[in-house]
Amino acid sequence: SQEFQGRHVTVAGLGVSGVPAARALHARGARVTVVNDGDDARARAQAADLEALGVTVRLGDGATLPEGTDLVVTAPGWQPDKPLFTAARAAGVEIWGDVELAWRLRGPDAAPWLAVTGTNGKTTTVQMLAAILTAAGLRTAAVGNIGVSLLDAVLGDETYDVLAVELSSYQLHWAPSPRPHSAVVLNLAADHLDWHGSMEAYAADKGRVYEGNRVACVYNVADPATEDLVRAADVEEGCRAVGFTLGPPAPSQLGVVDGILVDRAFVENRQKNAQELAEISDVRPPAPHNIANALAAAALARAFGVPARAVRDGLRNFRPDAHRIAHVADLDSVAWVDDSKATNTHAAQASLAAYESIVWIAGGLAKGATFDDLVAASAKRLRGVVLIGADRALIREALARHAPEVPVVDLDRTDTGAMLAAVREARRLAEPGDTVLLAPACASMDMFANYNKRGDAFAEAVRELGA
Ligand code: ADP
Repeated sequence: SQEFQGRHVTVAGLGVSGVPAARALHARGARVTVVNDGDDARARAQAADLEALGVTVRLGDGATLPEGTDLVVTAPGWQPDKPLFTAARAAGVEIWGDVELAWRLRGPDAAPWLAVTGTNGKTTTVQMLAAILTAAGLRTAAVGNIGVSLLDAVLGDETYDVLAVELSSYQLHWAPSPRPHSAVVLNLAADHLDWHGSMEAYAADKGRVYEGNRVACVYNVADPATEDLVRAADVEEGCRAVGFTLGPPAPSQLGVVDGILVDRAFVENRQKNAQELAEISDVRPPAPHNIANALAAAALARAFGVPARAVRDGLRNFRPDAHRIAHVADLDSVAWVDDSKATNTHAAQASLAAYESIVWIAGGLAKGATFDDLVAASAKRLRGVVLIGADRALIREALARHAPEVPVVDLDRTDTGAMLAAVREARRLAEPGDTVLLAPACASMDMFANYNKRGDAFAEAVRELGA
């Protein structure tokens, strides 16, 4: 398009969004400068590729706004109070994120977006949604904050009928224009508050996902803050508020009746007041929070006109990603479950709620969280607790306050053998029928490269124990 011809665009940050953004803008005639804080081997390799095209790259200086910039396109994670943005705002220069750029660059016949955000469950829900849309015979992909760049999907050669788009709160912060076909905020709990500045600012950024929706704003009946965001949004005429609930649904909601997922919002046959979609056993794993994810995915698919049968088939075809309530082994009638992806207290609370009698392995980097609510809500279910990682004292103190009877093993170690030691202690505490659950409620970076590595270490330790 003509829009970018000759414009001076500064791309902030190399990486998964910066490189495709720089390429796309350069291809449209913009004069692109990429600025990047880091100056490591990977950045240098990416810089060399871009420079070969004629893009200017400045490594090791992400703070200064290049002279003459008339648009900034930023990587989503860059915090709004960075000096680069202060300078841009002072100069009246617009700042877009990768999602904004994708929206502006999409063609006239581009596929509509079904958008998913929320504190927890985003990836699972977009993957369920993509599975349902695929089962309905639609050309689709799960894109956004899940590895596949939205920009690549929007600009690539592949043709889609509809996109299942995961959006983080950061991405939404930098994306004022997108108008999804329909969207959901799955839930809202305190997370990333250091970045957004306050809970209000975080919620407002999440709420942007509803702006301009055409068909349905889907909200969580159990989380009234999500419904408040729907009410505050400016939507197209005729767009409906659709709730999902784990209980029996009111009209205009999806919910559960006698173990069946039912839809009372998008009923095809006017003679009936509810449409049966699937059975709870079609959802894997059938934990309450995951049934909520399935209902949210179903609501978006139904808003797009997908038949009931495709919802069931899609849910049956869906396989959860690794480290999300993954069943690792059964040893002596004890189940071992890896939910390493439970990196905050809200996620850990959901997975603890899915089991009756638990030996809980927890700890890591707390990211400023408090553990009182989590421990108080889960105390009844705990057979015992094994603590690892840097911030385990915070959890130990919460346990002392709210679950003083529960035995706690505080492993004072962060070395590579710590997970095996934790698994040994957990086995000692567990009794037949129990579940040993790795749901750390913390980030992993004090001991592991990421949550995948933490989950792998757990699974390996369990295998060693069983061998
Ligand atoms: P996200 O993409 O939002 O990080 P995931 O689908 O990867 O979410 O799930 C992350 C973790 O959050 C899961 O391992 C599980 O512990 C928890 N979780 C998933 N869905 C929900 C939900 N609806 N409510 C609360 N916690 C959830």
